[in-house]
Amino acid sequence: MPVRNRIAELHPDLTEWRHHLHAHPELLYNVEETAGFVVDRLKEFGIADITTGIGKTGVVATIKGRSSGSGKVIGLRADMDALPITEATGLPYASTVPGKMHACGHDGHTTMLLGAAKYLSETRNFDGTVVLIFQPAEEGGAGGKAMCDDGLMERWGIQEVYGMHNMPGLATGQFATRPGPLLASSDEFEIRVTGKGGHAAAPHETVDTTLVASQMVVSLHSIVSRNVDPIKRVVLTVGTFETDSSQSNIIAHTATLTGTVRTLDPEYRLRAEEAVRRVVEGTAASFGATAEVIWTPGYPVTINTPDETAHALDAAKAVSAHVIENVDPIMPSEDFAYMLEQRPGAYMFVGNGDTAMCHHPSYEFDDDLMPAGVSWFAEIVERRMPAA
Ligand SMILES: [Zn+2]
Ligand SMILES: [Zn+2]
Repeated sequence: MPVRNRIAELHPDLTEWRHHLHAHPELLYNVEETAGFVVDRLKEFGIADITTGIGKTGVVATIKGRSSGSGKVIGLRADMDALPITEATGLPYASTVPGKMHACGHDGHTTMLLGAAKYLSETRNFDGTVVLIFQPAEEGGAGGKAMCDDGLMERWGIQEVYGMHNMPGLATGQFATRPGPLLASSDEFEIRVTGKGGHAAAPHETVDTTLVASQMVVSLHSIVSRNVDPIKRVVLTVGTFETDSSQSNIIAHTATLTGTVRTLDPEYRLRAEEAVRRVVEGTAASFGATAEVIWTPGYPVTINTPDETAHALDAAKAVSAHVIENVDPIMPSEDFAYMLEQRPGAYMFVGNGDTAMCHHPSYEFDDDLMPAGVSWFAEIVERRMPAA
């Protein structure tokens, strides 16, 4: 039986915890109730070393093995926050908070780490220390970075770090990951263009900002096609285009474009920013307009280190007969990337079955994947820190 009997026995508890968290979603750093629920469960398990308020509302707890002479310390991470989405599942345990929903399955991730905490604190069948990391604000708030900035890796002496995300479209309880880049970086830009507004019938007395910004959109799309090695992956999207003209006979004075650049190659993060600035400044100058670029770096590329990916895959194979060892990378981004910038580790996808995609109002986390996920955490700990 790849899922351990004791973990299978926890399934009703896990389901109850998950449904409670699902009914009470909280956003970004405002996860006080969720963090409180986590702390209450950890105390019930007899875990004494619990620290709150790391990365504003994150929770860190440790479990020591029967021995800890190996000196090894492994971090296991889950995210706790929900999304500003109105739930449309009609489930009996659907969100009770209007406009908020656990539409990314972080309720399930938190529950699986709690399940691992219960199992590992009962069995302690390892030689070393497990650090449980419950982070806030994965959905765009960089809560993982905030925890790192609070000294997560150094204060708890973490040597390796592992995390997982459920994956709709992958059969329930299957696993998939890859060494190297797994998820993209995500940077945002805003471009403010200033020309010279005026009457639509007298364009020669203006600098038509709409035309200038339109040319910028077209030229920005040459960056990926003409500046990026075709075997690399970069995507640039201009998402919004607004001008200050309010009607058809006014030539705009200002325009604002916003967009995002995503890539699996850290070098192209830098090159893309340089290229966007070059295109914007050059285009503005060619029309006699001015422009500024405000660049907001987002999550880095999520890069699995090779050895830890191999450990993560070994643990997955111990749990499931269906493990994809070199899955295609995908272009969403993930806050866990900051932890992987600081320590070796791996991020794993675990199948959520044939459901709506994450961030969809009809998305449903599959409770049946939880024993596999909990087992994966436990396998990593017991394999990487075998009992003396
Ligand atoms: Zn999400
Ligand atoms: Zn997520």
